[in-house]
Amino acid sequence: MKAHPSKPCLVSLIGEITTDDLVPDGNGRPKAANFKAWFALFADSVASGSSSARLRSYLKNTSREVWDYVNWLTHAKNAAYFDAEIGVAITNDLLTAVSNSWLRHCAGQHPRCGECASYSVIAGQCHACGWFDESSVSPELPAISPEELEARLAEPCTQVRPTATHPDTTDGLTEQAR
Ligand SMILES: [Zn+2]
Repeated sequence: MKAHPSKPCLVSLIGEITTDDLVPDGNGRPKAANFKAWFALFADSVASGSSSARLRSYLKNTSREVWDYVNWLTHAKNAAYFDAEIGVAITNDLLTAVSNSWLRHCAGQHPRCGECASYSVIAGQCHACGWFDESSVSPELPAISPEELEARLAEPCTQVRPTATHPDTTDGLTEQAR
């Protein structure tokens, strides 16, 4: 069975979130390929404290389950079409949770509108009344060298696959992902 596209996607995800800042002082750095250990450190970082306990638990448990499922899928001889579709769906859900957890972490805990007290404040702007927080600071993006940027853009990171709902979609899997 060819490699399921979710596997390189999860490996890339670890490449994106892995920094020494995640490793607590005095602790050893997990091996680069240790998805579960790195993801647990990421969850501890973006969802720390008692008020984030449910999110932290969700991120850790879900990431372990998704990783185990996708690994099973890669090697399973009896996996069928819908097993692969489920692999794509649960990987997509994990990426969405990771993205929003990261944005939540960058935004700080429960930012509220200074005008109408709405919780719908994203990137310093209230989506309910339009108020803008002048003290809002955009998160700093990691610096990427021109060579690294060129290498990242050389391969598409969005893979278009035929699905049950869109069976006519062109199979856009890269050779690398097969
Ligand atoms: Zn408002």
